Amino acid sequence: MKARIFIEYNNCNMKIVYNNIIPFEGFAAINLFGIFFVRKNVIISDRLINHESIHTAQMKETLFIFFYIWYIIEWLIKFVPYGGEAYYNLSFEREAYQNAENKDYLKNRKLFSFLKYL
Ligand SMILES: [Zn+2]
Repeated sequence: MKARIFIEYNNCNMKIVYNNIIPFEGFAAINLFGIFFVRKNVIISDRLINHESIHTAQMKETLFIFFYIWYIIEWLIKFVPYGGEAYYNLSFEREAYQNAENKDYLKNRKLFSFLKYL
């Protein structure tokens, strides 16, 4: 069956692509290079949009590729003390989770703020 794909923009200018291909089945959504891929029938909240918009800001200031390199290296380092909880202790994730409720966070955020969450 052909996947129906549509794109919409929210007030944060986040590009959202609803589809049945990315991410793989079993996952709800993934932010790839600033484009938010969401599986069809997944309900996305403002909080999640804000979380992903914070990641997009982090990606832009790290020229995208360094976001992914940093993300993997920090995950490997933090896996030692945190194990399965390493994901929640990444600086990128800490910043995104701790500020996801604050809709104005990105308006006042300073460059490289994720470093404060290391
Ligand atoms: Zn995240």
